[in-house]
Amino acid sequence: MIHNGNPNGNLRLHIDWTRCDGRGVCNELLPETLARDDWGYPLTHDHRDPVIDQGRITAAREAVDLCPRLALTLHRG
Ligand code: SF4
Repeated sequence: MIHNGNPNGNLRLHIDWTRCDGRGVCNELLPETLARDDWGYPLTHDHRDPVIDQGRITAAREAVDLCPRLALTLHRG
């Protein structure tokens, strides 16, 4: 599901840090978007919700669906 903020904004991936426990599914599916720290937690490049390019939308949706902690959401902003 995509939560609409600014309908004309970029598609972004939000990580709920209160839920994430660093299992690493998201960085395996989106290696160009998310790095991984020493404990398996995803790292964004600028500490903002990363922009999801058109070519990575399918992988991002898959990450949202497969995150075992339901910590990922897509939104426009
Ligand atoms: S898949 Fe979910 S729980 Fe695992 S690291 Fe990514 S956000 Fe965290």
